[in-house]
Amino acid sequence: VWNFSAGPAALPPPVLERAQRELLDWNGSGASVMEQSHRGKRFIAMAERVEADLRELLAIPADYAVLFLQGGATQHFAQIPMNLAGEGDSADYVVNGHWGAKAAGEAAPYVRVNVAASSQADNYLRLPPRESWQLDPRAAYVHYTPNETIHGVEYHDVPVVGDVPLVADMSSNILSEPLDVSRFGLIYAGAQKNIGPSGLVLMIVRRDLLERSSRPMARIFRYAEHAAAASMLNTPNTWGWYLAGLTFEWLKEQGGVAAMGERNRAKAEKLYAAIDGSGGYYRNPVDPAARSRMNVPFTLHDSALDADFLKESEAAGLMALKGHKALGGMRASLYNAVPLAAVDALVAFMGDFARRHG
Ligand code: PLP
Repeated sequence: VWNFSAGPAALPPPVLERAQRELLDWNGSGASVMEQSHRGKRFIAMAERVEADLRELLAIPADYAVLFLQGGATQHFAQIPMNLAGEGDSADYVVNGHWGAKAAGEAAPYVRVNVAASSQADNYLRLPPRESWQLDPRAAYVHYTPNETIHGVEYHDVPVVGDVPLVADMSSNILSEPLDVSRFGLIYAGAQKNIGPSGLVLMIVRRDLLERSSRPMARIFRYAEHAAAASMLNTPNTWGWYLAGLTFEWLKEQGGVAAMGERNRAKAEKLYAAIDGSGGYYRNPVDPAARSRMNVPFTLHDSALDADFLKESEAAGLMALKGHKALGGMRASLYNAVPLAAVDALVAFMGDFARRHG
């Protein structure tokens, strides 16, 4: 079975197999990793290794902290302004899809949100051109969503925003290709697409930004406290942290993010070529320059065929192709754990379906 879910998404089979092997006896301890004290020697050694592997994979500079947090990306839509903006500050939001709009909405109680650019009028099917962004040089930060999971739009370059820290929700594209971390102030990602199970949030944040906000808040909300406590301010998501570590090891074995980037590009090119070459039977509505490598929405020429497409694709072992209700039709998510063979199987099925249902 090939899993094209947008999230929670497929994990690499070797990661799941190893987790299964180690489930009852982790690291020679005689117990599951879920039963270990996070303050014990074994767990702390693992946590340090996981961070080191991530630092190696993304070449994270030393002046950035790596945090393993909870609450999903959504909680951090609110927590980021609490930490990066002071009373009365404004922040620029570039809204190029559902999640960016949600991030701006959740931030509003904590910072003056300035929507610096939006592609809502284009139904988020293209990116707001960089020259249209109304950035404020005094903004506390600029927030954007490099890959919009629902609309299937992606930036293929990191925008230049001057000295204002760039904040990126990379929930659906982190670790999918090489990344110059030094271009960002803060990167965060819910784990459930390219990293591991939901509930874990990975954050990479420039250390000087940790000390920014002087507003009163509970310690548990303050990133500086999490950094000082090595992400163990309270009981962390130990299971998620462990699985993230297995994924990072797998990524290193695959040749790291450079190899992943090439593979992801090849997968996406193949699927878009099949859609574009179908003579209008299938259609992707996104501006070709903004097409996502991770999430590929597509419609059939006649939506009356959708139910048959879904039933037959599932019977053919192609899981979770139903599109988001915002766009209708189908969506194939091609995260790191989805191999080229899965795309081959999907493309073959699409061709066969079109021939049979003409
Ligand atoms: N941001 C993006 C880009 C997403 O795709 C999602 C969906 O999972 C979220 C944020 C929300 O993440 P969470 O459910 O972890 O809060």
